[in-house]
Amino acid sequence: MTLVTRRGFLATAASAAIVAACAPYARGRDPFALGVASGDPAPNGFVIWTRLAPNPLDLDPATPGGMEARAVELTWQVAEDEAMTRIARQGVVVARPERAHAVHVELEGLAPDRRYFYRFFAGGAASPIGRTRTAPAPGAAVEQLRLSFASCSDWQQGYFSAYRHMAAEAPDLVVFLGDYIYEFLEKRWAPVRLHSDGVEATDLRTYRNRYAQYRTDPDLQALHASVPCLATWDDHEVQNDYADRWSQDLADPEAFLRRRAAAYRAYWEHMPLRNAARPNGPDATIYGFTDWGALARIWMLDQRQYRSRPPCYGRPRGGGQVVNATTCPEYLDPASTMLGAAQEQWLGETMRASRARWSLFGQGTLMAELVQPDRSGASGYWTDAWSGHPAARDRFIAQLTEARAANPIVMTGDIHSFWTNALKRDFRDASAPAVGTEFVGTSITSPGVPYDEFAALARAMPHVRYFESRYRGYVSLDIAPALTRASYRAISDVRDPQASVSTVARFVVEDGKPGPVEA
Ligand code: FE
Ligand code: CA
Repeated sequence: MTLVTRRGFLATAASAAIVAACAPYARGRDPFALGVASGDPAPNGFVIWTRLAPNPLDLDPATPGGMEARAVELTWQVAEDEAMTRIARQGVVVARPERAHAVHVELEGLAPDRRYFYRFFAGGAASPIGRTRTAPAPGAAVEQLRLSFASCSDWQQGYFSAYRHMAAEAPDLVVFLGDYIYEFLEKRWAPVRLHSDGVEATDLRTYRNRYAQYRTDPDLQALHASVPCLATWDDHEVQNDYADRWSQDLADPEAFLRRRAAAYRAYWEHMPLRNAARPNGPDATIYGFTDWGALARIWMLDQRQYRSRPPCYGRPRGGGQVVNATTCPEYLDPASTMLGAAQEQWLGETMRASRARWSLFGQGTLMAELVQPDRSGASGYWTDAWSGHPAARDRFIAQLTEARAANPIVMTGDIHSFWTNALKRDFRDASAPAVGTEFVGTSITSPGVPYDEFAALARAMPHVRYFESRYRGYVSLDIAPALTRASYRAISDVRDPQASVSTVARFVVEDGKPGPVEA
């Protein structure tokens, strides 16, 4: 990407009419219909994103998103003020059809711990102005970090009011823990809204279309335009309950990897991720950490791509199932992994090197032990979450202590319910001390697990301090040197686009005292 002078930029803007005449999309349409986003804030910069899609749901292979198969030059600006008068950086970037006309601009050389604004121009049209920020300088004494975390936003199940209320809180960061889209078509519940194409996403065209549809949502667009995000995926970005190359429908692993490659590519194209996260075929390195001065290190983990094959994988179905040592001793395999060897090793090294006061981990599935009945009523464990890979969980929790990760807090999605859990080296020992805390956000829209059944299970597990599946919403964390507060935010009605929000539970974790305390 080349930097242009301010005069050069104005000349580009002034010739907008000429550019518009040759723009590769229908005149009169807004090429920025999917809005803007920013992510991965560092002390010196962040990523800004947009995708040109003047007709977002156009599935015609000749004009996907309403764009002809030609490259388009965009101009971008980053400014210190919302009026975009104090320009800090500007430049030109090319939107290419092979990247769905999405652009990711990685900013460097900006000042730490300050707000910035950004926008794009193409074909005489201007994007909305986005708001973002840089992280504090390395090691800086920071008094506060406010973040909200989200998971499980199924378009079909309702409106994204939770995203609107997250934006209204104006946190420093939004953290997406997976199931940002859903690939399938809802058959169990009457949909509130429909997936526009009427097919399960299985290839590049249909995954791209799914992201485009979700990004037409005004609440999600406004959230991305106002807060930088960190993001990892769970299963529905590809397929329900998949693990590595092992699909729910027992597809040929090589064929499934082709599907995964398409899904990962569409994910990267639509999220404000760095170029380093761009997939190479079915592989993409999206795990990493973000430092917030001396206050917090936030690890974002990938617990799907490198997983062991699900224990007792096979007929009739390849996804999660409830197993135990009698029905499936394989689940106790000491070599079983959720993160893969390379990510586990990196995690240990980066924990040991961290000097942050708080250690936060964003990841997809329930980490604390959950004992639940199998079909015969015997106690068992769900193979799609950490309880189905106990050796991997034991290593993670042991590493928290061995690597002296200060004040560990795991942020979790997937299970469509709020949980507050004490993480322990031995969940069976009620008197064992907590070594960390798990906060589980509920879903943005996806239906909760059955309340009565899971509330009864939760009551039988002393490490579970709170369970609630009847609300949709998210969790907001207010992190300060001495104390982290968690607010469990619930919306009034997922079927109401104007739903209100309220706090249904509060927990705190004190510096130096592992484990959650009700507040
Ligand atoms: Fe989900
Ligand atoms: Ca999931």
